[in-house]
Parts: sequence; structure tokens; C-alpha cells
Amino acid sequence: MNAIKAQDGSLQSTILEKMHEHEQIVFCNDPNTGLKAIIAIHNTTLGPALGGCRMHPYSSVEDALEDVLRLSRGMTYKCAAADVDFGGGKAVIIGDPLKDKTPAMFRAFGQFVDSLNGRFYTGTDMGTSTEDFVHASRETNCIVGVPEAYGGSGDSSVPTSLGVIYGLKATNKTIFGSEELSGKTYIIQGLGKVGFKVAEQLLEAGANLYVSDINQKSIQAIQERAKQLGGNTQVVSGDELYAISADVFVPCALGGIINDITINQLQVKAVVGSANNQLLTEKHGEILKQKGILYAPDYIVNAGGLIQVADELYGYNKERVLKKTKSIYDSLLEVYKQAKLDDITTVQAANRLCEKRLEDGKRLNSFFSHTKRPKWTIGK
Ligand code: NAD
Repeated sequence: MNAIKAQDGSLQSTILEKMHEHEQIVFCNDPNTGLKAIIAIHNTTLGPALGGCRMHPYSSVEDALEDVLRLSRGMTYKCAAADVDFGGGKAVIIGDPLKDKTPAMFRAFGQFVDSLNGRFYTGTDMGTSTEDFVHASRETNCIVGVPEAYGGSGDSSVPTSLGVIYGLKATNKTIFGSEELSGKTYIIQGLGKVGFKVAEQLLEAGANLYVSDINQKSIQAIQERAKQLGGNTQVVSGDELYAISADVFVPCALGGIINDITINQLQVKAVVGSANNQLLTEKHGEILKQKGILYAPDYIVNAGGLIQVADELYGYNKERVLKKTKSIYDSLLEVYKQAKLDDITTVQAANRLCEKRLEDGKRLNSFFSHTKRPKWTIGK
């Protein structure tokens, strides 16, 4: 989020180009509650836009705009990859989540979302909580992922972690000829909502783990769980984990961790995890390919949570979510196959798959109109 203004103070042409790629961008200002937000709708070919709402103390409106444009475009690809009937959108609220948040601000935000008449659905992201969206949901039906007590689908890290497990199985099948998780060694970075559940499932399957987290409580918790399950877990600290020789690196914390510094240290056969934006740049995908390290595109592997909130559109059904999350296995095998056939990176192959789904979708819709809304359960 660095300077995007040209020296004369005008918006840089790259930002203007990104703005023109978007269907709709809404600047929301409500002086009564102090709300300053931007909603960006990138593409609604496959359905109304869906994307979380991030709250962050952006240093300028331009920084917030740059972030929301990048994130909403990413959601178009993520929705296409997950084959859900949603398009790409995202919202950002400019403010410090620790100081500036009020229930009234989220009600005002809900009113802006409602004014889009079903073209944009949203929920939590960095800096916002399900509680904030319980307030917003008093003003609009276009909110997903609120707690079960409020009619939502609850903790989305459950299907996200399951998607990572399917991603690991597909990767093992591609590299070792068998999807078997046991007997292999995995390095897990981050034992939060997703990483902890992935670690538990791998231990239950009989895998060996190296784990790392900056939070000692999470480390203690996984050690206790490993004792109960009789599993083998070794704790690593700081950046040590990048140089460990293992089968698969499973990033479940930060983005940008495959970068110029870490990429030459890696001694794994594959990278498969939930963290968003694992590759610092696309160039790092090329380098992984050259090194013979198989990379599972993050937006394919971590789609379980999106699949769950998208399912609320039809009236949430747990069985249906689990079944669809399982399809991450086939999507990833297809990406690996195409990347090999065309001698391209797995990210390029995944992007192609999404672009094809969007092209196919255009035959049904060119953009989403709220007149289609009545076929769905939510938004009525
Ligand atoms: P979380 O905040 O619950 O967990 C993140 C964990 O990483 C925390 O335990 C934190 O202490 C740890 N961590 C932070 N910095 C670290 C470091 N330098 N080294 C090691 N550990 C570190 O988040 P989460 O919901 O588990 O999500 C994990 C990742 O997956 C994020 O990148 C998130 O964007 C992505 N993701 C999550 C979901 C979901 O359903 N929760 C869905 C899609 C993508």
C-alpha cells in the first residue's frame, strides 16, 4: 500500500486502470457515525459480488482504494475457482478497529450495502468480527457468515481446514502416486483457527509435524493434543522453519512468505496451505516451478470458508458444504495436470481455469442484476 499518487497529485494510471476493470465502486461517507468506506464490485458474471469487509487505519483514501481494488479482483478468481454462484467484491472501512468501531458505524455500513440492492454480499475480514456484522445485518439481508445463533453458518475455518487437507491429499497423489497423509512430514506455519485444525487432522492421520507459531499458547495446545493422539510434533521457532527438510510446507499464517529471502532456503517437495497471497509476486511461482517445488495456488486450497458462506445463499446445508469442499481435491489435480501439460506455473493454470469459468458464465449473464434475487433464500 505505497504511494499511488503521481507527483502532480493525480491518481496513478495503474490505479485508474484497475478502477476501469471494476463494474462499480462506491465511496460511502456517513458523518453521523464517522463511517468512511469503499465498496468495490469487480465482476458479477457468476452472481452477485461476495467479499469480506476489512477495517484498517489506511493512511489515505488512495491506499484504501488500492487495497479494495486488489482484494475484490482476487475474489472474482476465488469464486470462479470454487465454482460458487458469486462474483468478486470487497469492502474496506477506513479506521482503527481497536479505537474507531461502533455498532452505529456498522449499521450505517449495512445501509450502504443494502442500497446496492443485492449486488454485494459481505461479512468479516481482517479487523472486523461477526459481532460487527450482527449490527450490519439489522439493516440489510446481504450479510453472510454471522454466528449460527443469528442464522449464519458459523465457524468457516472448519471447511477451510478440510480444504487444506484435500489439497494435501491431491498434492501427495501427484507427487507420490498416493494421497496417503501418514508417514510424511509437514511444516505448519501458524496454529490459529485453520492451522490448528489442519495439524490435528494430520496428527490423527499419523503424519509427522514441525510446527511454528508466535503464540506460545497455541504451541502448548498442539503439544497437548499431539500427546493425546500419540503423534510426533517438533516445535521450531522464527524463520528456522523455511530451511527444514520435509515433504510439504503448509503456510497457515501470513502472506508473502514465499519471497526472495525464503525461496532459496526451502527444502520441501510442495507448498500447500491456507494463507492468502503466499507468493510475494508471480515471479516466485516461476522460481518454485524451476526448483521442482509443487505449489498449490492458495485461492484454490483455502476456498472452504468461501464455499460455506456462499452456501447460505441456498439456505445453509452442512452436507452440501462438505461435499463441495471435497471438490477442491479434483480442482487441484486438474490445475496440476494442466500446468504440467502446458509447461506453465500452477498459478497460471489456476488463473486460466477461472478465466474459462468466467467466459462460460458470460453466456448466462454479463453482469448480475437484483431482479434475479428471488430465486435465492437470503436477500429476500
Ligand atoms: P488466525 O489469526 O486464527 O491464525 C493465524 C495464526 O498464525 C495465529 O495463531 C498467529 O499467532 C500465527 N502467526 C502469526 N504470525 C506468525 C509467524 N510469523 N509465524 C508463525 N505463526 C504466526 O487466522 P486463520 O483464520 O487461521 O487464517 C490463517 C490464514 O489463512 C490467513 O492468512 C487467512 O487469511 C487465511 N484464510 C483463512 C480462512 C478462514 O476460514 N479462517 C479462509 C481463507 C484463508
